[in-house]
Amino acid sequence: MPTTASAYAAFDKTTPLGPTTITRRDPGPTDVQIDIRYCGVCHSDLHTARSEWPGTVYPCVPGHEILGTVTFVGDAVTKFKVGDTAAVGCLVDSCRTCDSCKAGLEQYCLNFGFTMTYNSPDKHLPGQVTYGGYSSSITVTEDFVLKVPATLDPAAAAPLLCAGITTYSPLRHWGAGPGKKVGIVGLGGLGHMGVKFAHAFGAHTVLFTTSAGKVEDGKRLGADEVVISRDPEAMNAQAGSFDLIVNTVAAPHDLDPFVGLLKRDGTLVLVGAPAEPHPSPSVMGMIFGRKSIAGSLIGGLPETQEMLDFCGQHGIVCDIELIQMSQINDAYERMLKSDVKYRFVIDISSMR
Ligand code: NAP
Ligand code: ZN
Ligand code: ZN
Repeated sequence: MPTTASAYAAFDKTTPLGPTTITRRDPGPTDVQIDIRYCGVCHSDLHTARSEWPGTVYPCVPGHEILGTVTFVGDAVTKFKVGDTAAVGCLVDSCRTCDSCKAGLEQYCLNFGFTMTYNSPDKHLPGQVTYGGYSSSITVTEDFVLKVPATLDPAAAAPLLCAGITTYSPLRHWGAGPGKKVGIVGLGGLGHMGVKFAHAFGAHTVLFTTSAGKVEDGKRLGADEVVISRDPEAMNAQAGSFDLIVNTVAAPHDLDPFVGLLKRDGTLVLVGAPAEPHPSPSVMGMIFGRKSIAGSLIGGLPETQEMLDFCGQHGIVCDIELIQMSQINDAYERMLKSDVKYRFVIDISSMR
């Protein structure tokens, strides 16, 4: 028998999110049932809730930075037991057979077979889409459930499941480390984790922000330098000096100033996913210097676990503002004003 859970949903693209009840599948042999304690608020939740990207199915229950307590495990589950702390990120299943899935890169599933935590067709409940972490419980196959180091504060660890892995993965892939100069663009949920990881990996870390009020925080979070990206003189002073820049900005903007900051063979990685495209970058700006513009999507299950373990070893968590479920609509408005310090996390017990 499927069970019910309390949730908060968007019912269309303009009305504020409000309370509802959703159905969760009855756990099967490989399933883990989790009572959700905390869920981070990602800008992707807002893009989806408001249909800024195509394909939102309503009602939509967002949330893919999920941390909670295991309340039930199926007979075949080996990694988890009742009472464990467990986490779920942006994916709850994939095709598991293609080259990407076999390589542990489920986010690049070649069959478009991955199931996102919310707003994907639900394989188990035909006709329904998946519902995310703005809810009291979730049931997920154990291969897509992650272990959270016990030393990490659970509320502050929840956003590692998206903001953390989305910045960790490109920084690792493009070799951020000692001797490298790495830029992070935008100090929001993703950006503040990008600064922490680039610093922890030993790179010379430079934050680019549009908000003069975030300079001190940028340094406290680990940036060696902070540059106001709207100041052309300050930008010129950094020209041609970066190995890697990870751009987390959620709105369309001119990429050419950032391409101009790259060294020969440098890479600008886009992880921000604005609803409207960026203006096309200058081809000349890329040809002269053999520069690359790349993209990166979250991270696969093995790398997400590696990231959580790295955070456990180095005591890294997110800087959060804990909110009640009923404050979600105000949180979205503040996120649109770049006024997040630096991730909202919902205390799901406020919904019970
Ligand atoms: P966020 O917390 O709202 O942070 C975005 C930051 O971008 C803001 O704090 C602001 O930083 C900067 N910014 C916003 N509007 C700007 C503008 N018009 N011009 C210049 N800078 C601006 O958002 P987030 O949760 O970190 O997500 C960022 C983006 O990444 C979203 O589009 C989200 O959907 C996407 N995302 C992608 C992936 C992936 O796998 N690739 C995963 C998760 C999220 P400053 O005040 O410092 O300028
Ligand atoms: Zn996200
Ligand atoms: Zn696959």
